[in-house]
Order: sequence, then structure tokens, then C-alpha cells
Amino acid sequence: MTDYSAEEIQPLIINGGTEQRDDAIEIRNPYRGGTITRVAQAAGDDVDTAVRAARDRVGAHPPVARAEILERAAGIVRDEHERFARTIALEAGKPIVQARGEADRCIDTLTFSAVEARTLAGEVVPMDGSHSGRGKLAVVSRAPAGVVGAISPFNFPLNLVAHKLAPAIAAGCPVVLKPAAQTPLSALLLARALMDAGLEMGDLSVLPGPGGTVGAALVEHPDVPVITFTGSSGVGWAIRAEQPRKHVALELGNSTPVIVHSDADIELAADRIAASGFTHAGQSCISVQRIYVHESRREEFTGTFLEHVSGLTVGDPLDEATDLGPVIDADARERIDEWIGEGESAGGRVLATGTEGELLCPTVLADLPPDAKLINDEAFGPVVSIQSYSEIDEALSMANGTPFGLQAGIFSARVDRALGWAGALEFAGVTINETPTFRADQQPYGGLKDSGNTREGPRYALETMTERRLVIVDGVRGD
Ligand code: NAD
Repeated sequence: MTDYSAEEIQPLIINGGTEQRDDAIEIRNPYRGGTITRVAQAAGDDVDTAVRAARDRVGAHPPVARAEILERAAGIVRDEHERFARTIALEAGKPIVQARGEADRCIDTLTFSAVEARTLAGEVVPMDGSHSGRGKLAVVSRAPAGVVGAISPFNFPLNLVAHKLAPAIAAGCPVVLKPAAQTPLSALLLARALMDAGLEMGDLSVLPGPGGTVGAALVEHPDVPVITFTGSSGVGWAIRAEQPRKHVALELGNSTPVIVHSDADIELAADRIAASGFTHAGQSCISVQRIYVHESRREEFTGTFLEHVSGLTVGDPLDEATDLGPVIDADARERIDEWIGEGESAGGRVLATGTEGELLCPTVLADLPPDAKLINDEAFGPVVSIQSYSEIDEALSMANGTPFGLQAGIFSARVDRALGWAGALEFAGVTINETPTFRADQQPYGGLKDSGNTREGPRYALETMTERRLVIVDGVRGD
């Protein structure tokens, strides 16, 4: 398998074909530094060219053809699994074992989307239920909503792109994708797989470039009625505010809490949270960030947790043994260091930290005040904090005490009680006796509050990407 060359410029994909451009984006290796390769950067009028071609392709493939394309693409990702995984590891700095997991999940996302393409159904409206409806047959079908503008983040550069492209294809919508400027290589690989699987000219464009120009042009384009955005809350809600008449589906950030109650299996909780709090150096939107432990188990939990954390290997993402590598760039690292400093100044105690070469090791703080950035904002780095509580209501209120509402977790032996507490957590998803960093690709995934306004997972994403169309036939006997 050949990796990338710094001398090459990878072409962008426009209307299903590959093209070069005068400008190129340098793709940096977050671990080694240096250039992995370069990627053609979309020019100002590329968005318009791509959208114009896409407009004519709405609903162009019948559902069975959409399903077959997605199934073939899943087969290509399976066959070239290691190439996909290495690309993720190189451009995002994600440890190779986790990158392989992401490639596996991409296959799931494509496969579940194919199922949706095959089974997408409308409904018959019970018209006889009202006097005005009697004698009429009303049928609702699900039509493609139009050209989808997709914008994706750097941290899952393959599977989160799949979560946009695959449901759009299942719905019959052509897509113009603007991948994260740091990580367009995985998106380009997936797009090529989809083209090899049968997409045609105009069905798909991948336009790498800065958010403020290429992304903004996509958001503003009048012939793009659907924007599906995954990224930070500030950017997402600004897009929503700018485009009140479009469907704008937002998958945003979180400050993920987990409650470890007095009756919890401490070994299980410590093991799962240590592994998930630091996966991809904490750069997951559901990376555990805040741990609330019942005061009666605090010492035991903290000791066990720190033992697990000290067993994590920090290093080269391409090394099989690595658990966490670098954060995406120097700016991210600087911000995380600043927030740790701010937490310490506010009274937080550092229980574990360090550096391995240039890399930040898993960092654990205790007793941060509720207004610390590491509590209230999204850390997006290898940092978690431990706080304690005496009554469960206090823990629930602290867990709810940020602007976010994506996923949260509870460890407790009493699942009956935990189910009640799950209802009191203002989060769209709650895990019980599992880390809240858990996601399977068919589940409805999304956030409340600042964390978003939609659900992804192929079946749920199709809600955004299809319109309900009603046909009423008069003169049908209802009795
Ligand atoms: P980001 O918001 O900086 O960028 C996301 C995408 O938006 C990129 O492609 C970027 O180029 C583009 N963009 C930036 N400004 C834009 C603008 N003005 N108009 C249009 N597009 C613009 O986010 P990031 O740093 O790449 O990713 C990390 C964030 O993503 C975190 O907040 C994380 O929680 C969130 N995230 C959420 C989910 C989820 O499913 N809820 C999943 C992964 C990541």
C-alpha cells in the first residue's frame, strides 16, 4: 500500500470527476509535523458549478440503484480497509487501532443507509377519521429534498462524512461536501469509492477549502435547500441563524458528564471511562470530560481510574500499541494547556498529567469549580475532571449545568433507579453502565440545547433529506 507524497497534489472531485486547481492545501501530519500531501483547493466559483450540476440529479437513481451503490461502496471500503484506516491515522493523528474501528463503522453506515434506500416508505393517511376526509384516499411519499450541502469536522474524517453522503444517496439527493480543511483525504477516498460503486456525474462533489469561503458559499447557495453540518457549536448556530428558510441540521459539541453512583461497579466504570475519555486524545464530541462520583466511593474510584489511565500508551498514531496521539494542531494544544492552567488557578488539583515528547499525556484534575472552562466548555483534548457529590439530585444538576446536551452516562447497579435518573438528564442520549462515549451508527444520535437540533444515523438523517409529499384521491369508498 502506498502512502501519500508531499510532492503530489490530490485532485478535488467536482460533478463526479477529478480536477486540479491552482491553489493547494497542505495536509499536515499532526504527529510528525511536515506535509503528508497537498490537496487541490476549491476556487470561488466551484460551489456554484457543483450545485448547478447537482440540481439536475435530484432523484436520478431509483431506490434500488441507490441501495446497490451503497452496498458496493461498503464492499470497496471493506476491501481497502487498511488504506482507509492509514489515511485517517495520518491526517487526523488518530491511533491506527481506533482508525480501523472508524473504517469498520463507515461500512456499517453505508450498509444501514442501503437498507434505508431499500425500505424508505411513506404512509397512508386515515382520511376516514374525519367527516371532511371521508371517501378520500391520501398517500404520503418521501421525495428527495434537493441538493444537500454537507460540512464535516476533522475528528472522524471518514465516518462522519459517510453519515452525510450515505443517507443523502439513500434519499436520492445529490451532495456537495466541504470536508474539514485539515482532513480532506479520507473524504476524497470515500467519494472515489462511491463513484466507483456507480455514482454518476453531478451526483457528488467534494470541495476542500476553508470554512469561511467554500463552506460559506455552500451555505448561502440558493439552490441548496438542505445543510447538514457537524462541527463546533458557534459555527453551527451561526449557520442556522443566517439561513432561517433552509433545513439546517446541526450536530455539535458537548461537555460529556458521567455519574458514578455509590452502588456502581467501580472497576467497570474506571476501565470504560479511562479508555473512552482519552480516545483520539479526547477529540470526540462525546469524549468523557466530567466525572461525578458519589463521595462514599470517591477515593476508591480515583485510585482505580488513575491506575487505568497510567496504563495508556501515548505515542505515534501508526504504532499498534498507541492509545492516544496528538491533538490536531498547535493552536488546539495551546488552548488546552491554557484551560488546564485556568483550572489549576481556580483551585483544581492536577492528579495526572505530563508530556511524552511533544504530546500531552492523559490529564486528570479534581475539584474544578462549575464555571471552569474545563467544566462548562468543550475541552476536545485529553483532559477529564473528577468531582464528588452526596445526593443524586446534586449530581444530576451538575451534569445538566452546562449549555450542552448530547450524551451523558450513569454507572449504577440499580438499573431501575438509573432509568429514572436518565430521564432527568437533559441529554438526547444516556448510557447506563456503558461509557457515554459510545455510539453505534444506526442509533439516533444528536443533541439537545447547544449540542444541536437533529438526529443522525441513516434512518433519522433521512428525515432531514426527504420531503413528505401528499397526494389525495377523491371518490374512494371508505365504508
Ligand atoms: P469546526 O466548527 O471548526 O469546523 C467544522 C467544519 O465547518 C469544517 O469543515 C470547517 O471548515 C467548517 N466551517 C468553519 N467555519 C465555517 C463557516 N463560517 N461556514 C461554513 N463552514 C464553516 O469544527 P472542528 O474543529 O472541525 O470539529 C470539532 C467540533 O465538531 C467539536 O465541537 C465537536 O464536538 C464537533 N463534533 C460534533 C459531532 C456530533 O455528531 N455532534 C461529531 C464530531 C464532532
